[in-house]
This record gives sequence, structure tokens and C-alpha cells, in this order.
Amino acid sequence: MHDNDAEGNEFFKCDFCHSPWSEERPMVEGHKGSLICGACLRVAYTEVVLGGGGVGPRDGVGCTLCLQTNDTLHWQSPIDDCSVVCRSCIESSAHTFEKDPGTRWQTPADS
Ligand SMILES: [Zn+2]
Ligand SMILES: [Zn+2]
Repeated sequence: MHDNDAEGNEFFKCDFCHSPWSEERPMVEGHKGSLICGACLRVAYTEVVLGGGGVGPRDGVGCTLCLQTNDTLHWQSPIDDCSVVCRSCIESSAHTFEKDPGTRWQTPADS
């Protein structure tokens, strides 16, 4: 999200943990300025893609990143139940991080 009351890095906040952007906290941007940080994506990927967990879609609540409603499982923010991310956005965001060496992102693997 874009926090219009803040400046600089603080302007960019993860929609899922509300932490501001920083060097250590890379983010992927979705539609309408939505953002997910690497830490949240790691949890989402582990729970939904590796663990087969997550929550089903709710009426009227689309994926925060792609704004679509689809019937895949979603990861829901622990602090903001209006922020959900669909499985396909979790996977495509992980690919975006993978392609950018600056993020030092490693896609979680089945252990
Ligand atoms: Zn986050
Ligand atoms: Zn999505």
C-alpha cells in the first residue's frame, strides 16, 4: 500500500504486515500500488504452495495483488483480514524475487 501520510521508504508499506519498505525487506508490487514483502511471501509460499494450506475465497474479497477473485486457496494476512493473496500471485511473486539477485530471495523448499 502507499501510505500518503508518510514519506520516503515509509511511503511504501507491505499490505500484509504493514512494515515499510527497506533494503532488507524487498517487495513485489501488485495492482493499484499493493505490495507484498519477502517475509510475508515466504510465509505465504510455505503455507499455501508447500503446505497446501490457506483460506478459501470470501465473497467480495479479491486478491490484494491481482484484484481477481478465484477459487484457489489464499493466504490471509495475520494482521489485516482484508489482505489476501491468491496462490498464483504467491507463485509469480516468488518468480519475480528469484529473477532479481538484489533481493537475495530463495524460494522455500520442501524440507
Ligand atoms: Zn509483509
Ligand atoms: Zn492474485
